[in-house]
Amino acid sequence: MAYESEYICPNCGSLLIHSNPLTLESMKDVHNQHCVVLRQKSIAMQMSSRPTVAVAPKPLATGGGPSVVAASIPGITNAATISAAANTTITLSGNGTSYSKAEGPIDPDFKSKRQMVGTFKGIKVWGPIDPPGQLGIWGTQVTVDYDICIADGACIEACPVNVYEWLDTPGHPGSEKKTFMAREKDCIFCMACENVCPPQCVKIFQKGT
Ligand code: SF4
Ligand code: SF4
Repeated sequence: MAYESEYICPNCGSLLIHSNPLTLESMKDVHNQHCVVLRQKSIAMQMSSRPTVAVAPKPLATGGGPSVVAASIPGITNAATISAAANTTITLSGNGTSYSKAEGPIDPDFKSKRQMVGTFKGIKVWGPIDPPGQLGIWGTQVTVDYDICIADGACIEACPVNVYEWLDTPGHPGSEKKTFMAREKDCIFCMACENVCPPQCVKIFQKGT
């Protein structure tokens, strides 16, 4: 049986596995060049090392109370990182080619375990991602783990309100297209897509959950 070694990225938690240590080293190098969380940390460090510029706080709409500037979220990230992620547009191309197909089901608790790393046409993307081989979980109410999706189309056929459309994802080991929740806001929470997905990579969140 081949010796299997692994590397867990200390920044984003990605797990890289390869039986050849030299190949694993190469995978680590490639990953670290494209690790979104590492990049965000670098940006945050650069920002924090810049000289402070005094800016008058913007008053709240109510006209009273203190201004909230950059509250930190213990153990996960800070408001500056969240803001940066919200403004980051996810691209589907890159050098992340060292991944194999992932097995379902989707982790129902991913929102407390993963970071939002950006958006694609207004849809949130939760890391880790390393395109095109690792794409993370997409959506807010209608969520799909793109690293598990096999693109059989069952969810598209099942949805009564046409929430989904196809999105090409060339180079992904699971499937070279994914079901994109373009009209996520139209979801009526019937749960049909979640129930028909063969690898169980869909998770529907009712509003407020
Ligand atoms: S829960 Fe129902 S309405 Fe919402 S995306 Fe799935 S199939 Fe469509
Ligand atoms: S049913 Fe599941 S596996 Fe099939 S396309 Fe939809 S999300 Fe992907």
